[in-house]
Amino acid sequence: MFRELARSQHTAARTGELKTPHGIVRTPAFVAVATRASVKGVEPAALRALGLEMLISNTYHLHLRPGEDVVSSLGGLHGFSGWRGPTMTDSGGFQVFSLGAGKEHGVGKVASIFPGCGDAPRIRGASLVKLSEHGAWFRSVVDGSEHTFTPESVIVTQKKLGADIILPLDECTSPLHDRAYTHSAMQRTHRWARRAREAFRLLADAPGFPNPGQVLYGIVQGGAYEDLRRESARVIADMDFGGFAIGGSLGRSKDDMWRVLDWTVPALPADKPRHLLGIGEVEDIFAAVARGIDTFDCAAPTRMARNGSVYLKDAPRHRLHLRNAALRTDDRPIDPSCDCATCTAHSRAYLQHLCRAGELSYYRLATIHNVRFLVRLLEDVRAAIAADQLDALAREWGASLG
Ligand SMILES: [Zn+2]
Repeated sequence: MFRELARSQHTAARTGELKTPHGIVRTPAFVAVATRASVKGVEPAALRALGLEMLISNTYHLHLRPGEDVVSSLGGLHGFSGWRGPTMTDSGGFQVFSLGAGKEHGVGKVASIFPGCGDAPRIRGASLVKLSEHGAWFRSVVDGSEHTFTPESVIVTQKKLGADIILPLDECTSPLHDRAYTHSAMQRTHRWARRAREAFRLLADAPGFPNPGQVLYGIVQGGAYEDLRRESARVIADMDFGGFAIGGSLGRSKDDMWRVLDWTVPALPADKPRHLLGIGEVEDIFAAVARGIDTFDCAAPTRMARNGSVYLKDAPRHRLHLRNAALRTDDRPIDPSCDCATCTAHSRAYLQHLCRAGELSYYRLATIHNVRFLVRLLEDVRAAIAADQLDALAREWGASLG
């Protein structure tokens, strides 16, 4: 399933090919977030034209709406959405966490898993989730209906959704959980991983599912505790999953996050792919790739567009704020070196106008540029790893390998 092509002499960075039933992903690769089987604002054909190779959708959201039976009856995610390329679905563990402990602790969504960081204030409140050994009970945010996710039900749901790579239900912890809680949640995640593997094995040859070639990854948990992360990586690696995802609380800072990867990645088998769940900044990409991450998902292209920002290499934090008054009559494209449909046809002034006027086309145009930006950055990252020049490329981007 995974073939390593080149490896850096100085870091753990590597290039490779991830083979899926719907095509090959060249790694390291950015996986665009298509929560509800859609990258907000941009249709699948346009995403493909941008060079994007993989999408990740969300089991929790698709289970609530439109429901996995609807998706399955239309040929799974590929038939349903018209995106014919490689796909992943996450297990819903993170969403359950967001409604539960994440809500109680005022930490949560992907953008700000670190307390006190992130774009939006966190609202604390009572947990909407009940966790037990059986699974997770929760209320739908769509209509208040009651649902239960178990390790087995989440495999069945993902078999019906039909993504190429699927993930087991896990219990995410918050950076504010203590070691004892994080330890017991990790052990539960391991027990759930065994149950998920067994459910996946029993359904391997079952007829009626849209994508028989699916692969199940394991998820490493353990919070920001070194011994727990090492133990989780060892236990999950021993379960012989098709690949591995690193999830949950990555600590209270970026430095914590890099330490978590330093403890985890070396314990995973080198011949299988490694996915980092939910990172966003350009600097993070260099630091993660240097630690041997092959794929990572990132909601930043659409989230930034929503906030009126687009990627620009030489701007502070690689962001150009389109609402900035100085751009009102700026006739240059976002990035003169970018080959995307937005940059080849439209000025910053026009995009500012669309953004301020709330035009729907703004959202599409900004997202197209942001996706293309990351696709090109990862092309450069792969070339740099092949030439063993990743640190030079990181310096050129004002980033470090951490
Ligand atoms: Zn562009």
